[in-house]
This record gives sequence, structure tokens and C-alpha cells, in this order.
Amino acid sequence: MTGPQKALHKLGLHRPIDLALHLPLRYEDETRLVKLRDVREGDMAQLEGAVTHSEVKLGGHRQLLVTLNDGTGTCLLRFFTFYPSMQQAMAVGSRVRVRGEIRGGFAGLTMMHPVVKPAGGELAAALTPVYPTVAGLPQSYLRRAVQAGLGRADLPDTVLSIYLKEICLHPSWNMRKALSFLHNPTPDVSLSALQDHSHPAWQRLKAEELLAQQLSQLQSRRERARLRAPMLANRQTGLCTQPETDAPGGSPGDDNLAVPVLSLYARLLATLPFELTAAQTRVVAEITQDIAHPVPMHRLLQGDVGAGKTAVAALTAAVCMDAGWQCALMAPTEILATQHFAKLVGWLHPLGITVAWLTGSQKAKERREMLALIASGQAQLVVGTHALIQDRVQFHRLALAIIDEQHRFGVAQRLALRAKVAADANEVDAAGAEPHLLMMTATPIPRTLAMSYYADLDVSTIDELPPGRTPIVTKVVHEARRDEVVERIRDQIAQGRQIYWVCPLIEESEALDLTNATETHAQLSVALTGVMVGLLHSRMPVAEKHAVMRLFTSGQMAILVSTTVIEVGVDVPNASLMVIEHAERFGLSQLHQLRGRVGRGAAASACVLLYSTGDAPRLGETARARLRAMAETNDGFEIARRDLEIRGPGEFMGARQSGDAMLRFADVVEDAALLDWARRLAPVMLDQHPALAEQHVQRWLGGKAEFLKA
Ligand code: ADP
Ligand code: MG
Repeated sequence: MTGPQKALHKLGLHRPIDLALHLPLRYEDETRLVKLRDVREGDMAQLEGAVTHSEVKLGGHRQLLVTLNDGTGTCLLRFFTFYPSMQQAMAVGSRVRVRGEIRGGFAGLTMMHPVVKPAGGELAAALTPVYPTVAGLPQSYLRRAVQAGLGRADLPDTVLSIYLKEICLHPSWNMRKALSFLHNPTPDVSLSALQDHSHPAWQRLKAEELLAQQLSQLQSRRERARLRAPMLANRQTGLCTQPETDAPGGSPGDDNLAVPVLSLYARLLATLPFELTAAQTRVVAEITQDIAHPVPMHRLLQGDVGAGKTAVAALTAAVCMDAGWQCALMAPTEILATQHFAKLVGWLHPLGITVAWLTGSQKAKERREMLALIASGQAQLVVGTHALIQDRVQFHRLALAIIDEQHRFGVAQRLALRAKVAADANEVDAAGAEPHLLMMTATPIPRTLAMSYYADLDVSTIDELPPGRTPIVTKVVHEARRDEVVERIRDQIAQGRQIYWVCPLIEESEALDLTNATETHAQLSVALTGVMVGLLHSRMPVAEKHAVMRLFTSGQMAILVSTTVIEVGVDVPNASLMVIEHAERFGLSQLHQLRGRVGRGAAASACVLLYSTGDAPRLGETARARLRAMAETNDGFEIARRDLEIRGPGEFMGARQSGDAMLRFADVVEDAALLDWARRLAPVMLDQHPALAEQHVQRWLGGKAEFLKA
């Protein structure tokens, strides 16, 4: 394969249809020349004029400055890299054609690094498409490949025209016409209709894409409905025949002589150190009703940070164990898995349950013991990290898998878990029973997203926090006032409180990231003599991380400086102040999750968002909107909604992880009407035109349909 061919594959452009669906990012209008008196700042403009001045400016940045006059005005061309040949081409008196973005500024209209050609050449006949590309794949090569793909792609109509009427789309805008048009728009079309995707060609494409997504999700929902799963009936408060606690290996019902006892569920509910909130009670009922059916559950439990999802998970697990089956709980980090393990052992061990524990950093001997406990079924509950999905783990009658903070796992990992538990289940039960799946997340999914990306999921929502929590007050503070923040910390410590101080994750450089946390740690240690200040970051050995967490959890350590490793799940009710450094670098949902670490006890809690503007005079618009949203609301759903607005669905979903599953053209918020149409049409297509539906999904998703099911 040549370099450009490899690059095409890297972009996922394998089939002719993939190329045909690789649509321009934007267009350049080389079909006409404009006059300087007509341009506005921000326009992409092509114009011709005479060079009236040219100089190389030295000092600071060496640059070539050229003044162009087209008879209606002047424009300054600025080049930071240039060659003698360019200087010659733009010598005073020569006429040139330039194309670039018009900017304002001190010097009047300016173009930075415009494309320069001699004046008087032919004008293009059509708008020039500019495609998304990668290094090593020139636009010209890509354009030819796309045109060839468009010629070869098979594009039969898969959507009957009667259905198109509902969204006012003229059937003549079929896929072939829509795609040809978008790749080669004629000069008479308005660039803005193309750019804002309101053109019928775009509408057709977006409608098709949304339909493909809805079809594939409905397909997987129907496939799942055909699978079998163990029926985990909840006996609630009733009696059940539990095995004796000293022989936890057997299953209930094996031994008719077993003493009737209250169900594990009932005993757990009675011994939890709190009353469930109404919302927790409701979701427990939703979930337990679901797993009582012989069809695998596929449910997302969403609830704001601190809403009490762990207790819901434990009660669900109890129902599973009551029925004589094994349950697994997977968490994204060691720290979180450890916390869950400690909490669940605390709740369940006194009730006679053996909980096993698996992580990557475990010693070989301990690991072997745990694997044996799991394989024999002696451990009814297994808690751990990704270590759970490794080959050597042999579950025993696994009927329920719970994934905590599911958004932190990649799509591939979620698929791996499902494949693994299904395979294990099949080994035990030749009839092919599948386990139930409960995913939990503190990043609530706005309704529009739930309807599109998660159409294959049932959703339960905890929409209420446990009582007695005082709302967290959030302050946005410029980093120049860091000293005041340190004073505030001193104050809190005097009151016996604990503090989190979080430093940002700098993605380009883990090293920088660390420097930041280490420096802050040193600074605070000096500023607050006699106070134990701890440091936690992702590259520390696991044992050390645990030691630090133990000191903080037990209250001996007053301040914990960390990178974002504490983001999920950590639960220390005595912590009442959260300082987030360089808050402008965090995403909104992430800030909210971090803030959720405080406000867990009865004490008034606060969150300080320290921001820095770097060299700039003020923060960018997006960063300001994010920080403002944080200060204005504590409601996770509201924050998720705004996050979606500010960032768009791509980033919201973690585009890098699930890039293949993303909608490329449609936007679930803007195209809500089309989404609604696709949702209604999908079942009709599957029932009445299954062949067309299949063809449609293949065209759009090809081999990626699997990914959408994760
Ligand atoms: P999250 O939903 O973020 O996972 P957790 O399950 O960690 O939340 O619960 C947060 C804290 O609230 C824990 O200390 C937990 O024991 C406590 N909690 C959970 N449910 C209740 C309740 N109904 N009443 C009081 N405290 C509760
Ligand atoms: Mg949690």
C-alpha cells in the first residue's frame, strides 16, 4: 500500500460507500473574485490586486508584510515563513490573486498566510470541497479517491418515498443526488445553506444516518429479547431457604433441610446504616422487576454523584445471590474497586457472604486464591477492576454483571465484559443463558442522547440525594488570590475538616501534570506547617496509593493533593472543601464529578475553582461558560445539559473512545425532529421492509454495528 492508501484506511475509508460518505468539512469558493470594500472580518475571500508595498520586518518575529490594493481598498498580507521566490512574486507593482481569511486589526484588513497565485488565472467552475484528512493524505489525492468512490458506490434507495414525506423531504433528493451535490456543489448554491446543513441534501443524509443508528439499536434490542437469562426473583421480605453460612458453596434449594431464613435482600435492607431514599427504593424496584424476567437486562442506572448508587448495586446483587447465582462488580480504578470491596464486605460479610477481589496489582498467591474462590462459586460476589475480564477468570453461575462508572470504560472493554460473561455463562449452562447487565454512571445522559445513542438501554434514574446534605457553594477565583484560598484552608483544618486539592490532567504531558501536583504539594506543605499534606497521582505504585488513601480516609491526613485520580467514587464524608486548580482546563462533567467528592457529610461544603488565564487577558468564551455553569447550579442533569450545549455530543460522549459509534452528520439536539422520525420509522422498517432495513444498516455502519451495542 502507498502512503496515501494507508492514510485512507486509517480514516476508515475502505469501501466505495465509505468514501462517498466522507463529506467535505467546508468549501472554498474559488469561483469568483470579491472586492475589498465588500468583505467582512471572518470571510474566506479570493481577490486580485496590485502590490503597493513590500517589506521584511525584523525584530521580534521576522515577517514579510505586503500591501495589496484592489482599487476599492487595501489589505495587509502577513507571512511568518517565506522564501525569496515569494518575495519576488509579490514585488511592488505585480498583480496577484490571493485567497484566505479576512481579519481585522490595528493595520486594517489583514490576511495571514493567504494562498498566492499570479492574477488573471481561470476561475473554478464549482465550489472546492475541503475534506477532513490526516497527515500524508493530500486534499488532491483525497478528492480523486472520493470522486471514484462516489462513482462506484451502490446507492439504491432504502427509504421508501412515502416515509420521506413526513419530514418534507422531496424523494428526488435520493442518496446519489444528495451525495453528488455535497461533493460537487454548483456555484449558485448558498454557501451558508451548505455550511449550516439546512440544505435538502444534508437533510437527506442526516435522516438516513439517524435511521441507521435507530435501526441498529432496535435490532440489538430485539436480538437481546430473544436471549435467555436466569430469572432472579426478589423474595423481598419473604422467607427463603438459605444455605448455612458455614457452607456457602451450595445453592439454595439443593438442600431441603436448610433452615428457612429471611432473604439476604431483606437482611441487607434491614442492616444498611440508613433508610433508602424514595428514589433509591424506586430504582431498586425497577431493576429487580427487570432481572426477574428470563431476558437479559440491559440497564443504565444514572444518579448524581453521592446519590447512593452503591447501595442500589448491593441490593441488586443480594437478589441475585438469594437466587443462588454469582454476581460481579467492575470498577474503573483500583482505588474505587478497593472502596467498593471494603464497603460491600462491611455490609455483606456479617450476613455470611464471601466477597472475592481481583485487581491487576494483586500478588500472585492472593490472586490464585481469589480465582479458586470465584471458580468454585464459594465467592458469591466478585469485585474488581478490568482484571475481571481476563481469560483466566472463571466465573461460576454468573447471573449479574454490574459496571460502575461505565462511561470510564472504553467501548471495547464493555464489549469484552459482555462477551466474557456470556461465554462463561454458556460453559455452565449449555442452553445459553446470558447474565443481566447493570451499568452505573454519575454523568447523567440528557434525554436527547438517551433516545439516540442509548436507545438500546433501559434507564433508571436516582433523582434525589440522601437527606441531610448541605448544598455545595461554588466560588470561581482567579489564581492571583491563591493566598486567600490557603487561608481558608487553614480555617477549615482548624475546624477539623479535610480538603481535596486537585491539579489538572494535562493530556499532552503526564510529566507536566505531575510537576503541577508535586509543586502544589510542596507549596502547601510549606505554607501549612504541622499539617499532613498528602500527594496522590496515577503513576505512584498501587500500594503507596492505598497507603495515602487510608491516611486520608481515616482523617489523619488533612489535605490530599492529587491529579484527577480521585475523580470517581471516593467517599470521605468529612471532606468539606474542594479546590480545583486550573479549573479552566477541565470539562464541565468532570468538574461536577470532582465537586461531588465534597458535600457528603452534614457540614457546609465549598468548592473553589481556581482559574488562570495564562498569557491571555481573559478566559475564552467556552471556559467562562463552563465555570459560570458550575457556580450557578449543583444539579448534575442541568450540568450535563449545558455541557452538551457547550461541547456538542461528540465530546460529551468521549469521542475518542466511541468515535466509531458517533453520529457524523446529524446532531441529536438540532435534528431532534429527524431523530423523532427515525425512532418511529425504525420498527416499521424492521417489521415491514426487513431487507431494506438490513441494506440500510450495512451501508451506514458496515462492520461497526457491533460497536453501537456496547
Ligand atoms: P454514588 O451514587 O456517587 O456512587 P455512593 O453510593 O458512594 O454514591 O453514596 C454516597 C454516600 O451516601 C455514601 O457514604 C453512602 O453510604 C451514603 N448513602 C447512600 N444512600 C444513602 C441514604 N439513603 N441515606 C443516607 N446516606 C446514604
Ligand atoms: Mg459510586
